[in-house]
Amino acid sequence: MADKFYITTAIDYTNDVIHVGHSYQKILADVIARYHRDIKKDETYFLTGTDEHGQKVEKSAIEKGIEPKKFVDEIAAADKAEWDALNVSYDRFFRTTDDDHIKFAQEFYLKSKAAGDIYLGKYEGWYCEGCEAYYDESDLVDGKCPLHPNKQIQKLVEENYFFRLSKYQKLIEGLLNEGSTFVVPDSKRGEILSFVKRGLKDFSVSRKNVKWGIPVPDDPDHTIYVWFDALINYLTYGIENNCWPADIHVLGKDNQRFHAVYWPAMLKSAGYDLPKIILVHDFLSLNGQKISKSLGNVIRPSELVKKFGTDGVRYFFLRYGPLGNDVDVTIEKITEAYNADLANGLGNVVARVSKMAESSGVEFEETNIPQGIYREQQIKLIEEFRINDVLANMWNLDLRPIDIHVNRETPWTRKGNDLKEALQFEINEIRILANRLQPFLPNTAKKILEQFRGPKIKALPPLFPRIK
Ligand SMILES: [Zn+2]
Repeated sequence: MADKFYITTAIDYTNDVIHVGHSYQKILADVIARYHRDIKKDETYFLTGTDEHGQKVEKSAIEKGIEPKKFVDEIAAADKAEWDALNVSYDRFFRTTDDDHIKFAQEFYLKSKAAGDIYLGKYEGWYCEGCEAYYDESDLVDGKCPLHPNKQIQKLVEENYFFRLSKYQKLIEGLLNEGSTFVVPDSKRGEILSFVKRGLKDFSVSRKNVKWGIPVPDDPDHTIYVWFDALINYLTYGIENNCWPADIHVLGKDNQRFHAVYWPAMLKSAGYDLPKIILVHDFLSLNGQKISKSLGNVIRPSELVKKFGTDGVRYFFLRYGPLGNDVDVTIEKITEAYNADLANGLGNVVARVSKMAESSGVEFEETNIPQGIYREQQIKLIEEFRINDVLANMWNLDLRPIDIHVNRETPWTRKGNDLKEALQFEINEIRILANRLQPFLPNTAKKILEQFRGPKIKALPPLFPRIK
């Protein structure tokens, strides 16, 4: 029987349509999902979607003069179209306004309450609407949210229900101790652990003056705090599909505390197993600036796709994306990488060999390459989520030698069996590479495999036309 494999991305907040800064995470998760689904033949579940409740959404809808539900319907549809443009192979596009989730989140809340972990209290402190998150005085930088220095932070005094996070201090420390692989990469585990060691405080799980949320089931004057509701999305889907616990949650570093601290405590409280790995990536900036609506530098993934093609965009992010450190992107950098690695690299090798194969008139063997024949080091890199290194490895060890072989053996100077032998070798190597590229550049891999199926091989228009 196939193993089950369940992977999630964070769900995007619906105060606005997602931008290119969100795309790395979805492409990264997609590659891992495709590797498990298509290569390892695991029974794979891949979840992405939108986080639709909360004060900021409520306000944005009011500003536009429309109902919050209508507002999020539009954003969710636009987000979905963006992920489709990048060929993200999710199994469900989850919306926290979906009926099954609302019901499940309320049940979860009651389970946690029955465990003695939810109580009524009074919150006095800071709330950043940008993050939809509570902050201590000591978290603030110059009196502002560390992630939203241009926004006024709200002073909040409100009756809230609280979750007894302090009770789970030991559990969370144990999860994050030296040697644990709960959080990847290890540097992020260290950061979160030092935060946890300062002492966990109970956190609010309801809002009294926010109407746009899931009602607290036994006190409908309150709505469930948007983060508490949002995290549960993974479980709603996991329980419905009998694939819980999740193998991997993929998310950005701004969400790491919620996923590595709050979430495991919530699950333990309600009696569920914990996810296995929290995979954290860093941030993307654009032309040296944070990407944000207020700075006016937002680019949608679909705009990049128009210029570079789906696999051009996927390649750039997978090869040069923010895995392990922040990355600054410019259109010039993407263009340069596209021309060097794809137009002159992969595309050129495929064009050269297919042209020679066509003009040779030879019929080639239809070698049947089994799926997923990776080098041992490539498998190791994939399983350590070092996706950028896997692609570098393939370009160095799989692609470059084909080019070298062509230049050394000069098939165009050969005849008969000699010609066939040289070309057959190159064709086989291209087939193997295309096979390995399937989870990363699915459309390109498919095109190459079809083109090189044989026995006759034809030249086709360039896979990656040069871009100025
Ligand atoms: Zn903030």
